[in-house]
Amino acid sequence: MATDFNPTMIVVSSAGIFCSFCQLQLTTKGAAKLHIERKHLIPRFLIECSMCPKVFRNKMNFVDHVGKYHGKRGERNLLKNYGIMVPNELFS
Ligand SMILES: [Zn+2]
Ligand SMILES: [Zn+2]
Repeated sequence: MATDFNPTMIVVSSAGIFCSFCQLQLTTKGAAKLHIERKHLIPRFLIECSMCPKVFRNKMNFVDHVGKYHGKRGERNLLKNYGIMVPNELFS
């Protein structure tokens, strides 16, 4: 599996914009990029919660977690204050 996004991963045809991995149709190239990054790419870094043993593969999941489970909703610099970036073991 790839780690970095590449524009060729998006298929643009007269029928619309599609993900080259799962053929899902998307409304914009931006949405397609986001979809590919979330679903099909392996993150180089994982985010560990400093307050519990949970590990997340993206910032959105992490922010959601600290808001829900640790009552930090709406705080600034959540990632900096409570997240620990750890290299993905798949690369070591
Ligand atoms: Zn896809
Ligand atoms: Zn936590």
